[in-house]
Amino acid sequence: MTIEFDLNVNCRDILEHLPSGVYVTNARRKIIYWNAAAEKITGYRKDKVVGTFCYDNVLMHIDETGRNLCKGLCPLAKTISDGNPREAEVFLHHKDGHRTQVKIVTLPVKNPSGEIIGAVEIFNDNSAFHSFESKIHDLEQMAYIDQLCQLPNRTHLEAELERCFHELNRYHQRFGVLFMDVDHFKRFNDTYGHDAGDLILQSVARTLKASSRPFDIFGRWGGEEFIGIIKNVDRSNLENIGNRYRNLIEKTSITLEGDSLGITVSIGATTARDDDSVASIIKRADQLMYTCKQQGRNCLASG
Ligand code: GH3
Ligand code: MG
Ligand code: MG
Repeated sequence: MTIEFDLNVNCRDILEHLPSGVYVTNARRKIIYWNAAAEKITGYRKDKVVGTFCYDNVLMHIDETGRNLCKGLCPLAKTISDGNPREAEVFLHHKDGHRTQVKIVTLPVKNPSGEIIGAVEIFNDNSAFHSFESKIHDLEQMAYIDQLCQLPNRTHLEAELERCFHELNRYHQRFGVLFMDVDHFKRFNDTYGHDAGDLILQSVARTLKASSRPFDIFGRWGGEEFIGIIKNVDRSNLENIGNRYRNLIEKTSITLEGDSLGITVSIGATTARDDDSVASIIKRADQLMYTCKQQGRNCLASG
């Protein structure tokens, strides 16, 4: 048994089931075909659209700057006039009133003698793709930003330190590290609760952010530990800068349950050496910070 294939009939069937919106116009841009996906993407049913002209129809293509493309700039009209296919990203007017972002392709329709007798526009809903892209962007941000303090997190700081070592080795650009640990932080948590502890961390983070030079980087290393990467410094500059932050944090006061809490930090400060690695500089800064704890806290030790 042979199965008859009538391209005219079967093509309509195929178009009807395509996931892309498809419409066909004649050379005067009168819409003569509108498929099911076009109905779905735009909200407009065939019977409302077929027979109208695409420039006076309900869709109103605009570009991202809001220019109405149906008046002179329409990709479909251009394709009808010069026979060239086109691609564009435009916003359609959805029946419910909102704008829908679509990616369109326009192609000429020719008769057997090569004359352009109309055009076809194929369009795909792009909004899901764009919201997916923005989700990816958010996830990327989350992977590098500490969500509580809105500062670079440990992963970010480690990558930044690697970059600093590269610049030190290649261009001799010096830098130093400040390792800061909030003093007696556990007491705040134990007395006022974990949420109060979070507020203190956010407050320290705000002080660091608000007072840092644009090229220095402060981030949260973990728990109640923060790290500053300070560019172009020698040991004495680094000590001065570290002590400036220590003072600023000491002057930050938070009132909880009527008590004014004094927040202090202990800081280990060290400049990068030629044979350092990320691990070795952090270890040295951490050890220096620890000597501050032994010396009574709220101070800076450098080495
Ligand atoms: P020291 O002066 O010796 O540094 O004492 P400390 O109490 O600051 O240090 P310790 O390491 O004993 O306690 C740190 C506490 O920080 C313990 C932990 O529960 C708390 N912590 C870690 N991460 C967070 C956080 O994200 N939020 C809050 N609220 N607490 C945290
Ligand atoms: Mg600690
Ligand atoms: Mg601590």
